[in-house]
Amino acid sequence: MGKIKEVAGNNTSDLTEMNRSAIVRILQQREVCSRAELAKTMGLTQASITKLTGYLIEMGIISEVGIVKGTGNRRSIGLRLNAEKNLVIGVKFSRHVFAIGVFDISGKMYTQQETEFGLDDNTADVLASMKRQLQDLLDRYENIVAIGLALPGPYLRKEGRIAMVTRMPSWHNINFIKEFKEAFDKPVFIEQDANAGALAEWWFGNHGRPLNSLAYFLVGEGVGSGVVDHDRLLLGDQGIASEVGHISIDFRGPVCECGNHGCLELYCSTMALLKKAKEQLPELFKVPYKTRAEVCNRIFDAARGGNETAKKIVEEIAEYIGYGCVTLINAYDPEIIVIGDSVSQGNELLMPTVLEIVKERTIPEVSNRVRIEISKLSIDPTLYGAAAIATDRILRKPSEYLNINKL
Ligand SMILES: [Zn+2]
Repeated sequence: MGKIKEVAGNNTSDLTEMNRSAIVRILQQREVCSRAELAKTMGLTQASITKLTGYLIEMGIISEVGIVKGTGNRRSIGLRLNAEKNLVIGVKFSRHVFAIGVFDISGKMYTQQETEFGLDDNTADVLASMKRQLQDLLDRYENIVAIGLALPGPYLRKEGRIAMVTRMPSWHNINFIKEFKEAFDKPVFIEQDANAGALAEWWFGNHGRPLNSLAYFLVGEGVGSGVVDHDRLLLGDQGIASEVGHISIDFRGPVCECGNHGCLELYCSTMALLKKAKEQLPELFKVPYKTRAEVCNRIFDAARGGNETAKKIVEEIAEYIGYGCVTLINAYDPEIIVIGDSVSQGNELLMPTVLEIVKERTIPEVSNRVRIEISKLSIDPTLYGAAAIATDRILRKPSEYLNINKL
């Protein structure tokens, strides 16, 4: 496990917060851990660890659990996360469906439910149904401390609304912050889906932490990315930074809905994959399908079964994913890139080409070091991400959001 090496330009309170968050993430992985083990893993003194863990105990985030065997037969007090006392609700909102899950701060899921809706349905009715379900869960689980909502990007944080999502114009004027804050007395935090995915990987992805930086590359109906650098999500002014899907890879290419030409999203989203397959593999579309992800999997299965046309289509998509990785590397220098969402189901079919492109097109000092992986999260990373949004925010300012008297 790597150590947190340096923190450029951060002040002491940022550093303290970052160390507290690293302790929580280590305890998510190891369940029980002594102060000495934490000190060793994080490269900090025992005195610093005692201070940091003292605060977390006071906030009810961690607690002491008897004696554990330490190094060299020494016995020390174990520490564990009070995960079950700090629950969050994650809400994932997308084009045809919203999903709601209850999680604890270690990422364990307690329940999950999905509701489909049509693009022509009345937005007020859909919102009312979502709020009813949330209220039911708040009534059922008394330890819920916050709600996290993941919306399709670009999401304008200052205005509380989504800016541009294909075929969803009626949703553009909904102020989600206002809607949720008025309806519930719990803190509500909102981010766009790629940022949510990045937080999910950061908090729950089990990448051998603590990491210094991570980029989540969302390749699904949309293409986007979220970057966590030194424990902070990169947001930009309006919260729409790192929109890698709208970086032009061909400035003379077709016009994208955003106004730019030849955006990456036009070449490796599910829509791009389906367009190619429809022309070249029409037989895969004969049986009706419910979601684009379902047809993507048919294409991947055909490639796995040796269909040369399918193999070629998948290879082309993998090349574009590789170009996206090169852009992420040059822009953000991440320690790890995690590829997620429906196109990542192509997994082992995509990776050799992606890695080859990265090796060819970046300097060896980078390509030898950066890790590129497919997401291993078992649940939809964006729903997980919605829970991670809430987890991230409450663990950063526990004194503000946690009712310590209750614990
Ligand atoms: Zn675009």
